[in-house]
Amino acid sequence: MTRARLAVVALGVAVVVAQGTGITAQRERAYLLKPARVFDGERVREGAVVHVQGARIVAIGPAADVTAPGAEVIELPGMTVMPGLIDAHSHVLLHPYNEATWNAQVLNQPQSLRVARAVNHLKATLEAGFTTIRDLGTEGAGYADVGLKQALAEGVIPGPRLLIATRALIATGSYAPKGFAPEWEIPQGAQEADGVDGLTRAVREQIGRGADWIKVYGDYRWGPNGEARPTYTLDELTLIVEVARSSGRPVVVHASTPEGMRRAVLAGAETIEHGDGGTPEVFRLMAERGVALVPTLAAGHAITQYGGWVPGQGPEPARITAKRASFQAALKAGVRIAAGSDVGVFTHGDNVRELELMVEYGMPALDVLRSATSVDADVLHLSTQIGRIAPGLLADVIAVRGDPIQSIRALREISLVMQGGRIVIR
Ligand SMILES: [Zn+2]
Repeated sequence: MTRARLAVVALGVAVVVAQGTGITAQRERAYLLKPARVFDGERVREGAVVHVQGARIVAIGPAADVTAPGAEVIELPGMTVMPGLIDAHSHVLLHPYNEATWNAQVLNQPQSLRVARAVNHLKATLEAGFTTIRDLGTEGAGYADVGLKQALAEGVIPGPRLLIATRALIATGSYAPKGFAPEWEIPQGAQEADGVDGLTRAVREQIGRGADWIKVYGDYRWGPNGEARPTYTLDELTLIVEVARSSGRPVVVHASTPEGMRRAVLAGAETIEHGDGGTPEVFRLMAERGVALVPTLAAGHAITQYGGWVPGQGPEPARITAKRASFQAALKAGVRIAAGSDVGVFTHGDNVRELELMVEYGMPALDVLRSATSVDADVLHLSTQIGRIAPGLLADVIAVRGDPIQSIRALREISLVMQGGRIVIR
């Protein structure tokens, strides 16, 4: 063996030793969180403490029962410890439409600019206590979410855990930008694909390039009078679900019309987004088949304000009244509600707005907290990793000042954010 080769071997040993030390150090890093109460994802446990070791939660229980020798004790008087929040519907590659229209973002902004903004959006999201999000389509930014997800996973940038949908699927002619001379081919905010061959190929393309979920626009505003109408046929939606499911990917459908929602349910979609026009009948069908509704209350609330409405002033716009009524019909039908806001339409980091509106529109605060933690984790197929404070799960944990059951606004008072056992905000 030459001297050079020896040196390389020695260096290799040194690297292994150094890595070994790092792993040991991480394994030994332990915290005992002592708040006023713990919301464990399902119920409130007054006086409970949480023991975190390395990346995981190892114990939760009354202070007298949880011994954590050597752990750093973090006193959190008056505070509530709970699982990191989850937003099941975001667009990190969009920013509020009162800053730039959706068309301008899709057509005029360089993808590099959109990615630069997204990096800031992800940081703001984590700082707001959201430790996982499902991002539902890049809206014209191609596969930019794939690299963002990788950057987060490798620790290059701070942000929540990210599930991605890449480009999303639209029926030809149904989506946007529209309104141009018909002789021009205008780039669209998602991937146009139709029929057996086209859809099979597009679903597999998106999966091959990194999609965790297949997002489909099941209806859109392309009716004769610009109203929302179904896009894909039931056969097409069923095919999408079959192709996606054989690879282990679930399907999420944007649908606001009763018929678009009905087709999505019958085809086997796992979540339906928006559901603004949902009827008691279609909500009953969703409840029967266990399909979750992601209400995105905050999106319409924001868009109506961009149109000039000031909440609390003047008569309530019909869109808001109707949305509250359909949300209440979904609650009454027993539909599983997964918290998701459509953030990007409004400011990233203000995701709590959705949870405040859920309470305002009549959902009990405890159920809202469940939606944004354990229910979202179950719906997103992540319940073996996150969404609850339970031994063995990843320590994605936040602490907020006060009691969010008494006042949901307490969720805005973030005092600690821990991600995989690492304190990211204190
Ligand atoms: Zn959306």
